[in-house]
Amino acid sequence: MNKSRLPKSLLVASCIFVLAGASLLFWPSTQPLVSTQTNSTTPTSSSASAGPIPEPQTVATPEHLQKQEQTLESTTFVLQEGDSLSRILDRLGISNRQIAMLIRADEDQVFSRLQPNQTLEVTVAMPSQDLKKVILTPNRTERYEFTYGGGAFRFETHKVPVSTERLYKEVSIQTSLFVDGANAGIPDKILFQLTDIFRWDIDFALDIRQGDRFALVYEVQEVEGDVVGYGDIQVAQFINNGRVFEALRYDTQKRTDYFTVDGLSLRKAFIRTPVDFTRISSPFNPHRLHPIFKTTRPHQGADYAAPTGTEVQSAGDGTLTFVGQMTGYGNTIIVDHGHGFSTLYAHLNGFAEQMIAGRDVRQGQVIAFVGETGWATGPHLHYEFRINGQHQDPETITIPNDSPMNQQELRTFLPYAQQTMQRFTQRHSPAFNQALSRLRR
Ligand SMILES: [Zn+2]
Repeated sequence: MNKSRLPKSLLVASCIFVLAGASLLFWPSTQPLVSTQTNSTTPTSSSASAGPIPEPQTVATPEHLQKQEQTLESTTFVLQEGDSLSRILDRLGISNRQIAMLIRADEDQVFSRLQPNQTLEVTVAMPSQDLKKVILTPNRTERYEFTYGGGAFRFETHKVPVSTERLYKEVSIQTSLFVDGANAGIPDKILFQLTDIFRWDIDFALDIRQGDRFALVYEVQEVEGDVVGYGDIQVAQFINNGRVFEALRYDTQKRTDYFTVDGLSLRKAFIRTPVDFTRISSPFNPHRLHPIFKTTRPHQGADYAAPTGTEVQSAGDGTLTFVGQMTGYGNTIIVDHGHGFSTLYAHLNGFAEQMIAGRDVRQGQVIAFVGETGWATGPHLHYEFRINGQHQDPETITIPNDSPMNQQELRTFLPYAQQTMQRFTQRHSPAFNQALSRLRR
């Protein structure tokens, strides 16, 4: 017995009282709610054969007057884990024949996608227990109605229009980005998006200063005046520690991404650190004394100390050129990123599934796990960055922006960007504009 089902019967009971009256108002007038009483509980069409031969007057009586007095009762269920349509209808005393008929009418198979918290409104004629109407409301924007009539259920889909508003907000950071952002009424989802957009240029753990400011426009989805969701940030500006960054959302042929007004991607071609490291245990050093061999051996990469099993991500899009063991390096992966760039990951505990040479990987994709295979004195990632075969310091290398737009895309983007930024700037407060002009002086 599932404990979570217990309160449901209470909910159902209270709904009957509330909704039975309301549903009467909406029932089509062609279907009588109350008719004169007869002794037969079966529909008129079959009562003739069941009962004695009717008097001539009875035949002349309008059909609906021969039924037993029927009232409609509506019950609204908030679906719980494990609920099924047939179980709910069965509990209401609906016949298997009508349940089967209802499911047959479900041409979009909406009943196969029932989820907790969706609502199901069931209207039954009482006392005959004939199912008259079922309304499934899976969310604020969709409603599915099944109405009984003429021996079958008619299926109708209703979509409630979602309107999208664009909100402008501006924040001056006094406590923290998330505290001040929330105080300005910006949802966490949008604040996370903001830090994600600018993560290439701003270290949100270390770089944020009191007095930093940001302004942004983001989408809010509304249904009948209520907020039902949030879309994406369309444009944003971030003043951080004396620098200003901007981002415009735009669809290119390759992906939807954020760009500067000049059409440069904010995304960099490489992640700075391909592992969530605890500390740099050994920096790039061409003249290092090797910890095991005690001889001068260059350290061709950076070592990031991290617990065994920590995920290692591919620093950029590319193709695996080596997956296996190398002397000293232990389990190793090499990724070729094209344009002369390659990265190497060593001392790995193991590889992610399906990592074989020749396979393409995406930036940020988990390719392996930290370990201490090969000549290692503790679990860490040894990470090398090469440009045209030359080792570079992964910590200080200037990482190029991701592949820019092509000329054709730029021609449409630039006027759009200019216009959007102009409209955006017009909404800035005098304080925000002052902060901007101080930087540009
Ligand atoms: Zn190393």
